[in-house]
Amino acid sequence: MTGIIEMKILAEFVGVDGVSARREIFLVRRNVDQPHLKDFGLTLEEGKAILQRMQVEHTQFQVEQCGMRDRECVGCERLRAIHDYRTRSIHTLYGVCQVRAPRFRSCNCSAPRDAASASRLLALMA
Ligand SMILES: [Zn+2]
Repeated sequence: MTGIIEMKILAEFVGVDGVSARREIFLVRRNVDQPHLKDFGLTLEEGKAILQRMQVEHTQFQVEQCGMRDRECVGCERLRAIHDYRTRSIHTLYGVCQVRAPRFRSCNCSAPRDAASASRLLALMA
């Protein structure tokens, strides 16, 4: 045995489809064979890193979920093809989060072009 303990901090996100996604937020390691009082509990730096990482993962998950909703054509309800992904910055209370946001191709249905290509998510980040 190494004397090293680990605390994995995971976040479980549940999407609009009810599917869960787990993401590792942070890993804390401590040596219990040579304990120091300063090693008990989280450090201020670890606490800040956990909060910042949580914010990034939460924001990315929200972007993914909003993107899935936007992917459905409002004219015919079919899923539009993904054109590409773009990196966007979202300013949050706990810092700027870089997220990966999808862009979709326009639908070929007879819906008005504005309706068939609408992306609420990208409109927010424009
Ligand atoms: Zn359509």
